[in-house]
Amino acid sequence: MDIRRIVLIQPYRDGRLMGKARGIPYTLMRLASIVPEEIPVEIWDENLEPIDFSGLGPHDLVGVTTMTFTADRTREICERIRLQGATSVVGGTHATLMPEQVAEYADVVAAGEGFRTWLDIIHDFANDTLKPIYTDVEWRTLQGVEPLTDRVINMVNEHRDYWTPYLEITRGCPRNCDFCTAIRVSGRVMRHRPVDEVIEEIQRRGIRRFGVTDDNFGLNFRTAPDYMEELFKKMKPLKLDSWTVQGEQIVSEYPELLRLGREANLDKIFIGFESINPDNKGSLGGKTKAHAEKIRECVRKIHAQGVGVVGLFVTGFDHDTPATYEAMWQFLKDTELDGISMTILTPFPQTPFRQLCEEEGRLLDVPWKYYDTAHITYRPKLMTVDEMQNAYDWLVRKIYSPWQIARRGFGSLRRYPIKVAHRKAFGSFSTDYGFRKTYVEGYF
Ligand code: SF4
Repeated sequence: MDIRRIVLIQPYRDGRLMGKARGIPYTLMRLASIVPEEIPVEIWDENLEPIDFSGLGPHDLVGVTTMTFTADRTREICERIRLQGATSVVGGTHATLMPEQVAEYADVVAAGEGFRTWLDIIHDFANDTLKPIYTDVEWRTLQGVEPLTDRVINMVNEHRDYWTPYLEITRGCPRNCDFCTAIRVSGRVMRHRPVDEVIEEIQRRGIRRFGVTDDNFGLNFRTAPDYMEELFKKMKPLKLDSWTVQGEQIVSEYPELLRLGREANLDKIFIGFESINPDNKGSLGGKTKAHAEKIRECVRKIHAQGVGVVGLFVTGFDHDTPATYEAMWQFLKDTELDGISMTILTPFPQTPFRQLCEEEGRLLDVPWKYYDTAHITYRPKLMTVDEMQNAYDWLVRKIYSPWQIARRGFGSLRRYPIKVAHRKAFGSFSTDYGFRKTYVEGYF
């Protein structure tokens, strides 16, 4: 069959916030870059505008990326694609974790990373030989990972339409937290993009402020210090405005690398502290001891090198009770953290935590859209659902009160030299504001 065009769809998540969507459709941009030049390709982001299905037809191949949270919307999108006679291909986290279930509504499922199978799918569509499921079984090296093409960079106006451009530097994480889907999708071997390829992408996209998508960038401080040093030293001359990464507490043990990071304008590290209840440490993959004093010390050490810290916490572990939420507040109300993410533990497919909930009959019968880490989707062990909901709602209202957001924001701003403070003003408040929109006001 002749291919008229390829369309790649980002399903609705939370729309626009003050005129812009939150983050660019980075995975789709990479997949669009793999499409051969002679085939027209388009990216439709439902967070920017509603999808107009009416123009789709039998010669269109339509890829949809899905997370568990957007699986219900993806099903609706696939039904509309089928009505138009076009062919749907669903990939992404949820397709990788539950390919058989996604195959119930997608014409084709692309499980795994898709770097190897995406071209096969395009080829098989052209030859009318599509299979129902393609599985990318290997974790391919990120060396020479297909660069974003200029056609795609020009197609997505990341400066005008999005708050956060994304960038990938490493992928994978050797830890094994029992609630984590990232390692089930990206693997447990840490892979690195060559530094020069990262620098080239930053320069060609013209981005000066971005979020790094890596699952556990910070672990590389211990496992790949030479790579980190080279990266920071080559990023320094780019004179970036600011960039953020995810990591873990061990980064505080590497002051020299933190200093180099700050010189490269690394602004904040989002650290998965997860819990302050030490009884939960068995669920945390060995990356944190869930110890309040150690968290304080970690934050002090990172701040001492001029880098900010956003604390990522999860509530609802099997040892948590309503008293845990009160203890969280006592810990966080005067914390030096620059921002806080307070999510609800979620039994994502293929995780040990989901398996436990299934064995114990604790999964709640709720739609996938509740798997957004802001809703309760299982029966907690030591609380009722109502007790946990009340405790969580109470805690996030406290944490994201205007006063607390202002306290943390001005605390952040004070750490910057006066001459750059004006450039940091927005970022000092926006992270917490975004979390408030998600966890207090909600998507729906
Ligand atoms: S450290 Fe982070 S990325 Fe690694 S397994 Fe734990 S939650 Fe997942």
